[in-house]
Parts: sequence; structure tokens; C-alpha cells
Amino acid sequence: MTGQIAIIGAGPSGCFLAQALLKSDPALQVDLIDRLPVPYGLVRYGVAADHQGTKAVSRQFARLFERQGARFFGNVSIGSDVTLDDLRGAYDAVVLAAGLSADRALAVPGGDLGGVFGAGKLTRALYEHPEAEALPQLGPRPLIVGNGNVAIDLLRLLAKTPEELEGSDLGHSPTDWLAASGIEEITITGRSPAAAAKFDTVMIKELGKLGGVTIRVLGAGETDDPQARKKLEALAALEEGEGPRRITFRFGLTPIAVEGDSRAEAVRFASDAGEEVLPCSSVLTAIGFDAPGDLPRDLLLAEESEGKLAEGLYATGWFRRGPRGTIPDNRADAKELAERILTEIAPDTTKTGAALLGALPDTTDYSGWSRIDNAETANPPPGRCRVKITTREDMLRLAREEETQ
Ligand SMILES: Cc1cc2nc3c(=O)[nH]c(=O)nc-3n(C[C@H](O)[C@H](O)[C@H](O)COP(=O)(O)OP(=O)(O)OC[C@H]3O[C@@H](n4cnc5c(N)ncnc54)[C@H](O)[C@@H]3O)c2cc1C
Repeated sequence: MTGQIAIIGAGPSGCFLAQALLKSDPALQVDLIDRLPVPYGLVRYGVAADHQGTKAVSRQFARLFERQGARFFGNVSIGSDVTLDDLRGAYDAVVLAAGLSADRALAVPGGDLGGVFGAGKLTRALYEHPEAEALPQLGPRPLIVGNGNVAIDLLRLLAKTPEELEGSDLGHSPTDWLAASGIEEITITGRSPAAAAKFDTVMIKELGKLGGVTIRVLGAGETDDPQARKKLEALAALEEGEGPRRITFRFGLTPIAVEGDSRAEAVRFASDAGEEVLPCSSVLTAIGFDAPGDLPRDLLLAEESEGKLAEGLYATGWFRRGPRGTIPDNRADAKELAERILTEIAPDTTKTGAALLGALPDTTDYSGWSRIDNAETANPPPGRCRVKITTREDMLRLAREEETQ
């Protein structure tokens, strides 16, 4: 054995790192540890339910466990079930690949009023994350603050008709919730001009396929930049629909307050033209993510390191870089870090590796996840490709089933 490596987080960045490590040195023992009983992080609980092509990357990750010898330890939360120090004592190298799951707060007066919901919280509820809160009441006129790809995902999901969700893995309750939402109008706002908006043009083009909406784009402006012009053209092409649900794009608006007594009723914005108040029935913020605080990201930021936090302790993915970048963007990061770890690792044969995790009750392994996966995909109802098991208890029961037979 040439070393034992623990990766905290079995999302894309953890999986890409494990792939790169094992490709360079198949004799390594690489263990992916996740606080959820199931792997793949935001591929399962963030990527939109109607983007199954994107989610197919999990089949590539599965080969890690099926062919490359990586091991999965699910339902283990680093910070509460096992400390980071314990893990560092047991492994030659430990990598934080825990992502960033806390919604960045809308830091304006009224930003904490009722009716203000973060995109992370809302997508976790929509995609039936076992720790999600109940789906909230959005009312007839939700207003989205932010216009990156996460915001556009949310907009598209909220605007789709039930028929347009066919082929997705959106669960029964979220489907009913959407159908009963009573949404009449969605306003989506961004700080920058349209030419500098963070969304990808392809995401805007996809909105053009929605059948039940009328889309208006206000104040998109002009640009000389050929790349940015494609964004403006894609936006302009949206203004052809005639469906009952109205969507309005607004640009150059910086939120300065959420107004309302106990619940959001409007957002006050500053713009080049002065202040403007847009009424709404709820506010959805899609303005980035922070670490929830259970792992030492402050250490990382303080060190301004290139992924190394301390001797034998590294970080990768969103946890290291911040909440930017797509799934494939994490691959380059992982390759670089794998090379670095392989140069620096000093295997210590007295380290006991996963023995520490073996002592914990209720962990899941890759076979357990396969049983959950099979149960979810065996008999989906018409129009769905999967029915997610939604509670931790049910996941653990299914994962254990074979052992108890
Ligand atoms: C709503 C949303 C939609 C997106 N849609 C797309 C898309 O369509 N296409 C695309 O390319 N990119 C998309 N992205 C971006 C993509 O999801 C990220 O680039 C990628 O998931 C980052 O990978 P990661 O492994 O760093 O983090 P994550 O995917 O968040 O994985 C982190 C893992 O660490 C685990 N973890 C956290 N804390 C602990 C702990 N204390 N102990 C043990 N485990 C822990 C988590 O359970 C999770 O499984 C989207 C992002 C969001 C938020």
C-alpha cells in the first residue's frame, strides 16, 4: 500500500480527486466520506431535476467504486461523528471536499424577513434532501435576486408546466407543490447589465422552450462585445411566448432593502436611474454560498493557500475555490491537487485508516448506496426516471437490507 487518503465529501470534487489519485497510483487506499448516506453531493441535490444529462456524470463516478477500488463511507459527518483531528491521525492525507451549502445572506435591512428564502434551501427542499425544511409558500409573485445559472434553474423549474417536467426526477410532493403554487409572475433581477450577467447563454435559450410563459426583458441594453451580444440576442429571442405565467427580467438593480411588516412584500433597489421598489409575494436569493461552519474554511481563507491547509491536510472543489464553477471545473482542480498529494504524501504504516470509521454505527457503503439507487430507479411512475428515498432512516434501512437477509 502506498498511502491512505480520506476525502471528506463525495460530491464531484471529491470524486474527481479520487479518480485522479487512483489513476496515478492504483495501490492507494482512497476513502470518500459523506455526511449523507448517499454519494454525489449537488449532482443529486442541486443540479436541476430536469437536467438528467448533467446528472449522468454520476455513472462515471460509480466506476470509482466499482473498478478503481475507492470506498464509500456514508452517513458520517466530520465534525460531529468523527473529528477532523481523529481523521488526520488515521490517514496519511485528508482532503476537505465538503462543498459550500449555506446560502449567502442577503445583507440588507429586511433581508431576514419571513418570505425570504435562499436558493440552496429551496433547491434542497425541491430535490428532497433528507435535511431539507418543508417547501415554503411563495405566493403569486416571487422575485428572484441574482441571475446566475442557479437563479435561472430556479426560474425554469418554477415556470414549467407539469408536462414539461416529464423525464425528470422531481418527486411527488414537490410536483404537487409546484402545481398548486399559484405563481402568476416571476421577476428576476441582477445587479449587472445584461451583457455582464453571470448566466450562460445556453440556460437562457432553454427558457425559450417553455410553453406556459410570457417573457419580458427590460433594460437589457447593448454591447460591442461579440460574446456578450449572444446573451442579449438569446434574451431578445425570449420575448415571443404567450403563456399565462409572466416572467420579467430586470438588470442593473442592486437590492438595498426588503420591505414588509413581518413578511417580504417588496424589494427596494438602487439603479443608475435612482431607487425603485418592486412588489412581490416572496424573495428568492441566489447570490452564492458559504460554508456552514462545521469545517475550518476560515483556516483556508487565512492561509490563502493553493489547496494545502496544514501538513497532510488539503482542500478542493467549492470548499477551496468558493461557490463558482460547474461540475467539470472541479476536475482540473482535482488533477492538480492529486499530483501535489502524490508528491508530498509520506505513508505511515502505523496509521489505521478506516478502522476509525468501522467503529461507527449506521454507516453506509457503496453496496448500500447501490441498493438505494436500485430501489429508486426500479419502478418509477410514468413521467419520472427515479423516485428518491427521502428520509435518512429509510435510506439506512434499504442500505442494510442485504446484510439482514
Ligand atoms: C443549485 C445548484 C445547481 C447546479 N447546477 C449545475 C449544473 O446544472 N451543471 C453544473 O455543471 N454545475 C452545477 N452546479 C455546480 C456544481 O454543483 C458544483 O460545481 C459542484 O457540485 C461542486 O462540487 P463539490 O464536490 O465541491 O461540492 P458538493 O457537490 O456540494 O459536494 C460536497 C459533499 O460534501 C458533503 N459534506 C459536507 N459537509 C460534510 C461534513 N462535515 N462531513 C462529511 N461530508 C460533508 C456533502 O454532503 C456533499 O455530498 C450547481 C450548483 C448548485 C448549487
